[in-house]
Amino acid sequence: FFLPDTPLEPGQPVDLTPIAHQLSRVLRARPGTRIVLLDGRGQEFLTEVRRLDPGEARGQILEVGPAAGEPRRPVILYQCTLKADKFEWILQKGVELGVTRFVPVIARRSVVRPAAAVLKKYPRWQRIIQEAAEQSGRGCLPELAAPLSWEEAVRTGEGLRLLPWEDATGHPGLLATLQRSGQAPPPAISLLVGPEGGLTPEEVALARSAGWQVISLGTRILRAETAALAAVAVIQAHGGE
Ligand code: SAM
Repeated sequence: FFLPDTPLEPGQPVDLTPIAHQLSRVLRARPGTRIVLLDGRGQEFLTEVRRLDPGEARGQILEVGPAAGEPRRPVILYQCTLKADKFEWILQKGVELGVTRFVPVIARRSVVRPAAAVLKKYPRWQRIIQEAAEQSGRGCLPELAAPLSWEEAVRTGEGLRLLPWEDATGHPGLLATLQRSGQAPPPAISLLVGPEGGLTPEEVALARSAGWQVISLGTRILRAETAALAAVAVIQAHGGE
C-alpha cells in the first residue's frame, strides 16, 4: 500500500486508518498480519497490523529497506489520447511493465481532444495507476503529467526519444535502435505513441525536426495499446528491468 506519510524508523507506530477498509475487506487482514507500505519515494516498510477496527487501524513498522520493483532507468510514455478503456489499459499495464511517467498527448486524430476533457479523467486515471503500482509492487508511484498538445510534447522528452510510426518503412526497428544507441542502457527513454487514427505526416515531420527518432515496430499495424505496451516490453528487455 502507498502511504506517503509513513514514518521512517523500525519500531515506530503507523496510522493505517486510511487503508483500514482495504485491509479488512479486501485483504481480510487481522492483528498480526504483515503488510508492506510504500512511501512512493523508493522506500518500503514491512509493517505488522496491530489494531483493526472499522474506521481505525494501527500498525508497527518492523523493517525499512529500499523498495524493489523500480526499473533501472526512467521510461516515459507519451501516449496520444485514446478511447477510455484503451487508455486505461495502457496505464494499468504500463505501470506493471515499469513506465515511470505517463504524459497524455492530444494529437490531431486523438478521439478525446480538449485538455479539459482529458483532465476530467485524472482522478480515475490516478486511482488506476496507484492500484496497479500496489498490485505490481512498484517502489515509486508513476507520475501522471499534465496533458500536452503534440507541439508541446515534441519539444519535451528525456534521454533517447523514440517515435514509433506505422508508416516507418525504411526506418530502423526498436531493438536495432536501442542496440545502436551507444549507451547501454541509455539514461532515460521517451516513447511517443500515436492515436487510433495514426499520426499525420506533418506531426511526424515536426517531431523529427525536434529530435525524435522514428522507429518501426514491424511490418504489421498494431493497435495503439499493443504498440505502446510491446515497445515498453522490448525497452525493458534491453537494459531495463
Ligand atoms: N487503428 C488501429 C487502432 O485503433 O489502434 C491502429 C492504430 S496505430 C495507427 C496507432 C499508433 O501505434 C501509431 O501511430 C504508432 O505510434 C503505433 N504503431 C502501430 N503499429 C506500428 C508499427 N508497425 N510500427 C511503428 N509504430 C506502430
